[in-house]
Amino acid sequence: MNVTILGSGSRGNAVVLEADGIRLLIDAGFNAKTLAARMATADIAPESISAVVLTHEHSDHVAGVCTAARRWGWKIFGTDGTIRGTAGLSNLNPITIDVELPLQLETMRVRCVRTPHDAGEPIAVVVEGIACGSRLGIAYDLGHVPAGLTREFQQLDGLILEANHDDEMLRAGPYPVVVQNRIASSHGHLNNRAAASLARQVAHRGLRHVVLAHLSQHNNTAALARSTVDAAIRSTDFRGALTVSRQDAVTSFTLQRARRAEQLSLL
Ligand SMILES: [Zn+2]
Ligand SMILES: [Zn+2]
Repeated sequence: MNVTILGSGSRGNAVVLEADGIRLLIDAGFNAKTLAARMATADIAPESISAVVLTHEHSDHVAGVCTAARRWGWKIFGTDGTIRGTAGLSNLNPITIDVELPLQLETMRVRCVRTPHDAGEPIAVVVEGIACGSRLGIAYDLGHVPAGLTREFQQLDGLILEANHDDEMLRAGPYPVVVQNRIASSHGHLNNRAAASLARQVAHRGLRHVVLAHLSQHNNTAALARSTVDAAIRSTDFRGALTVSRQDAVTSFTLQRARRAEQLSLL
């Protein structure tokens, strides 16, 4: 599975996944022009995207979805709460996700997990390439980690995980206290320590990529997020790459099912 993060942070989030020639977008949190420009840097034509799955209705996840879906013919999937909360979406025949059931989108299977966040019906996702077997988990915009998410995120090959803020930077930072409290609440955003704890719980030898995402511009630094998570997973079996996604730049990697590769090498 090819993974292309078009950008991540409070000013927009979108991830293109490709398995066996089919492309799926998770979130469309940039305007259509920016989505097209970021995709162009990764040689992805917007009309080659089959469908978009929305995690929730906040503008940094849906800003471009209506224009882009209309322009390039994308099918739109979201929970009932997300569809209701996204202005203009109901006119575009969106397909409602049943969170309890896996969603099969041609070459990929998407499992959804409910997340605690101040939105209508937010989700995290695990996307699996049906033929290649590789599994990617994406969890951002969650105030804490529910048990169901930790369970679903076992045995991933790749993980895109929110490391939104450092607690001390948030409290010493420029935001009004009411905003600080909202971010730090159990339905806000994940801090570095909570991200580190989840990463540690799902770390295993087959996990090849951990990408920290949705970093706050004011209340975190890439170095701090990375060092906090690195300290937590260094003592586990994790031997993969730990990187930090950026708000304004594209990050790409390819996921391979590690165990399958090891099995093949034994033949
Ligand atoms: Zn967000
Ligand atoms: Zn949000």
